[in-house]
This record gives sequence, structure tokens and C-alpha cells, in this order.
Amino acid sequence: MLITESTVDQLAWEKMNQLVPCIVQHVLTGEVLMQGYMNRDALLQTLQTKAVTFYSRSKQRLWQKGEQSGHVLQFTGAYRDCDNDSILVQAIPQGPTCHLGTRSCFAEAPAPFLVQLNNIIKARRSASPDESYTAKLLSQPIKRIAQKVGEEGVEVALAATVQDKDELLNESADLLYHLLVTLEASDLSLEQVLEVLHQRHR
Ligand code: AMP
Ligand code: ZN
Ligand code: ZN
Ligand code: ZN
Repeated sequence: MLITESTVDQLAWEKMNQLVPCIVQHVLTGEVLMQGYMNRDALLQTLQTKAVTFYSRSKQRLWQKGEQSGHVLQFTGAYRDCDNDSILVQAIPQGPTCHLGTRSCFAEAPAPFLVQLNNIIKARRSASPDESYTAKLLSQPIKRIAQKVGEEGVEVALAATVQDKDELLNESADLLYHLLVTLEASDLSLEQVLEVLHQRHR
């Protein structure tokens, strides 16, 4: 359930000795970024300032993530779980979330699959064109890569028109893949596209 300033007291503060675990999720990609603890003040400050703030057990004070590094977590929403003893915060990170420099504190955990695929495509930039179709595509002029997106787009449209659902699924996969390669070849990212969609949503 959505947490607002007027529902903060519905969390099980007493049961949790005033500290509720909080999982932070990237609102655009779905990646789990970090986990911390919030007391009532930390949650209120997060809701009011829109900068994710925890209670640091080591510092024994409120800790706004990014207060030193500048890598703040721009708050977009908070939700409590079924029995009100944990918080899910969604946010847009401004820089790496982990103090070790990675996007997520769970650096080795696989990201949501579309993000994984995007990362694999990125890594293929330095692969040999003989070993990888993606590397081969990326070594070609942008015009050729862009043409593939056009072709796959037409194939999607044709499959949809005749309602060939198997074909529509396959061609949609081709289109998504080639779109990701085109973005990579243009030094743009899936995340930037998601950002545009998210902006429009508001
Ligand atoms: P920051 O909040 O990013 O300015 O970092 C300040 C200090 O908080 C760092 O030196 C770390 O000790 C700690 N810290 C920063 N990010 C994290 C994190 N994701 N998880 C745990 N501790 C962190
Ligand atoms: Zn629970
Ligand atoms: Zn970390
Ligand atoms: Zn195709």
C-alpha cells in the first residue's frame, strides 16, 4: 500500500523497535539498488524532501543517501508490505548507489532481464565481430543498424495486421533487440528512453 505523510503511523514502528527495513528499487529499470533502515523521522523527511533518507545505525543519526557523495536517490514513491513491517521505496538514482561505485549494492545479482540484455549489448562493443552477431552489427555504419530497426518494425506491423501471434512475438523480440543495438550505437541508453516515458507519465 502507498505510504503518504498521513499514513506513516500505520507502519508497525513499535513491533520493529522504531526501525523498519527499506528496500530501494530503481523506478525505471526495476533494479534493486540497496537496503537500509528508516525510523519515522527518516520516512517523513524522505516524503517531504523527496531525497531518500535512512536512519544510520552506525552514524546513529538521519542519513540522507548522497549527503557527501552527491549520489542522492530522488524519491518517487513508498509502499508498505502486507504486514506493515517493511518499506519499498522507488527512486531515480543520481549516480552509483553503492559507495563502492556500482549501480547497486547487490552488484553481482542479475538485473531485470531487459537491463541484462542491454548490458550484454554494451559489452559487445569490445568483442570481435567474428564471434558475435551484436559486435558485427555494432561495427557497421549506423545507417545499416538503423535499417534493421526499420525492417523489424515493418515485420512487427505485418504480423500484427494478420494477427499471427507467434510471428508477432518473434518479430517484437527482433525489434526490441535491434532497437537496443541502435541506441547503443548512438551512445544512448534504454534508461534514457525509460526516462522520457516516465516524464510523459507525470
Ligand atoms: P553518501 O551517503 O553517498 O554521501 O555516502 C556517505 C557514506 O555513507 C559513505 O562513506 C558510506 O560509509 C555510506 N554509504 C554510502 N552509500 C551506502 C550504501 N549504499 N550502503 C551502505 N552505506 C553507504
Ligand atoms: Zn512484512
Ligand atoms: Zn553498497
Ligand atoms: Zn524479424
